[in-house]
Amino acid sequence: MQTPYLPGKKLFFQRLVSAVFSDYLSQPMEKVVIIGSGPAGWTAALYTARAQLAPLVLTGKQPGGLLTTTSIVENFPGFPEGVDGYELMTRMQKQAERFGAKTSFGVVEAADFSKHPFVLTVDGEKVEAETVIIATGAGHKHLGIPGEHELENKGTTYCATCDGALPMFRNQPLVVVGGGDSACEEAMYLTRFASTVYLIHRRDSLRASKIMIERTLAHKKITPVWDTAVTEVLDVKQDRVTGVKLKNLKTDAESLLDCAGVFIAIGHVPNTEIFKSQITTDTNGFIVPHKGTMTNVPGVFVAGDCADHVYRQAITAAGAGCAAAIDAERFLAAQNQ
Ligand code: NAP
Repeated sequence: MQTPYLPGKKLFFQRLVSAVFSDYLSQPMEKVVIIGSGPAGWTAALYTARAQLAPLVLTGKQPGGLLTTTSIVENFPGFPEGVDGYELMTRMQKQAERFGAKTSFGVVEAADFSKHPFVLTVDGEKVEAETVIIATGAGHKHLGIPGEHELENKGTTYCATCDGALPMFRNQPLVVVGGGDSACEEAMYLTRFASTVYLIHRRDSLRASKIMIERTLAHKKITPVWDTAVTEVLDVKQDRVTGVKLKNLKTDAESLLDCAGVFIAIGHVPNTEIFKSQITTDTNGFIVPHKGTMTNVPGVFVAGDCADHVYRQAITAAGAGCAAAIDAERFLAAQNQ
């Protein structure tokens, strides 16, 4: 596990010692381990830290979660001008750490909830925990079409704010796939760089919020392409995106569209794979809470997008993080009575 604030040499020796002596070193038992560092994770950390439980937050591969890839968040209360997604997450982290939350840039590879204390394997090391809050969020859904995977990072991407400003996309026609808030947001963001943004959607109406639909469809640089599926990303032979194959779903007519980039924004899949054998999920992989935020395993709680296929907002994730923290705190209090 990597600790963010250690200077390089100290960290190197800490890892060396821990790699050599890992079987002999006993890990301290954590009262609360929070897996994930999006709005749910940091809010759970804030509440459990203020309850003096010194939670350990394992950030996962993407510290701050998906919200850090959003440009401006306009619907998180308390920010009348909107707030940059990365800044919002950094502020949440600082607030939780101020009260004693511990942060570690760790990725959980396995979890054993069959015995108590629970054991998490984090970058090869074991962490014991009395309670665990799963706040692993969701990842990008893929189209699963030819060329998509092969041309990832060569013009195919899932994040306009991360990649939109790259020179390869400047003054070029770009494609955004999807009809939700994410697709509209990506399309709007890309208008800063692209010559034209084609918003390709499989139906003839967007499912995004009204305000986003209005802004998107009013933008001069955005051209919606309705009732259309992208069936292939071209051109694998050239090892870069040169265009897409399209199919009109009403007429079955096929066509080609030149573009330098394909931004896929078709929703998310919950990051719950490693828990599935022990924690109850629905058919789409979302964790199903049993009592409040507690899962089928007493002492394991869940919060945020990994359990929510309905609301999926930063503020609802934060609220769920608060609830999970309170449930974990009460669970620990009951255990210690
Ligand atoms: P979403 O609302 O689930 O929309 C996914 C879009 O992708 C839908 O239009 C869907 O089409 C389309 N789609 C799904 N699978 C597809 C496939 N295989 N091929 C082609 N198209 C496909 O996902 P989202 O836009 O990521 O939003 C997720 C949640 O986050 C929502 O609650 C949203 O409000 C929220 N969000 C909010 C903001 C904001 O407020 N600033 C920004 C981003 C996201 P159909 O419409 O036909 O189903």
